[in-house]
Amino acid sequence: MRAMSEPTPHPLRDQLPAILAQIETEAQALWGQGKVASYIPALAEVNPRQFGMAVALTDGSAHSVGHAQVPFSLQSITKLFTFVLALKALGDDLWKRVGREPSGAAFNSIVQLETENGIPRNPFINAGALVITDVLTSRYAHLDYALLGALRRLADEPNLHWNARVAKSERDTAHRNMAMAYFMKSHGNFVNPPELVLDNYCCQCATEMSCAQLAQATMFLANDGRDLRPDGQADEQFLSPDEARRVNALMLTCGAYDAAGDFAYRIGLPIKTGVGGGMVAIAPGVGTIAVWAPELDAKGNSVLGAFALERLVQLTGLSHTTF
Ligand code: GLN
Repeated sequence: MRAMSEPTPHPLRDQLPAILAQIETEAQALWGQGKVASYIPALAEVNPRQFGMAVALTDGSAHSVGHAQVPFSLQSITKLFTFVLALKALGDDLWKRVGREPSGAAFNSIVQLETENGIPRNPFINAGALVITDVLTSRYAHLDYALLGALRRLADEPNLHWNARVAKSERDTAHRNMAMAYFMKSHGNFVNPPELVLDNYCCQCATEMSCAQLAQATMFLANDGRDLRPDGQADEQFLSPDEARRVNALMLTCGAYDAAGDFAYRIGLPIKTGVGGGMVAIAPGVGTIAVWAPELDAKGNSVLGAFALERLVQLTGLSHTTF
């Protein structure tokens, strides 16, 4: 039974519209400092000068600014959702196939696989995400539908889809990811044909969502694993509270690849980023924040996105709930 009583309004609720407007204005000073991802050719076609930010609070309120309703390519942010699905499916057995340590290396680095016997450091770098997609490929005959189904439910949005053009563009140029998949297969850490897993991986990465939808889709991580509908009423227990805590820990330590330490220092919230220019951050017990701006720094993270999250925690003290 759902509790139908009104959730207590969070103290931030009234301040957020002005804070988000201020951040949007300040962020524009950073236009041109980064570059849109171009190694996936279709991503290079995105207009770089876009900025959207959305905050969803556990009291059911939603706040946004700029291009927060525009769908963008989630790319590695999907690794968060596939990891959660694999954790639900395999539990602790998952850790036989992938580690949970920060890599300190680029998201697409191959070097550690050589010395670490084909076991990727964590589920958020490409090698680890490929293993996760391999796990899910064994489990679901149509992984694209299974993933979309979960995301539609979590985002309360029946129209989510993946962009076939972006998926094909990545698949046509996925030589490095394919090399990693074959390398892991040579170590016995890959069950399915790499071609099939890469098909699934490229569709997964091409999933599109807006900031508003992404903030809603990750609410379960701010709410002890229990999904919250847009009106703030509790819905399905998607993960156990312990699992949600662990996912957040992994996001904090590994979610921004070789910038994870810097992000923890500057922002101090569990985060997952993607080369589409999106980021999602979790403020446990308070809410979620999604931000999107396509220009990336040298490590593949959104320049304006990182700035916006840093300003948000400065202006609200949000990360004091994490530490
Ligand atoms: N699909 C991208 C890749 O595999 C995802 C990378 C990212 O968003 N960091 O390269």
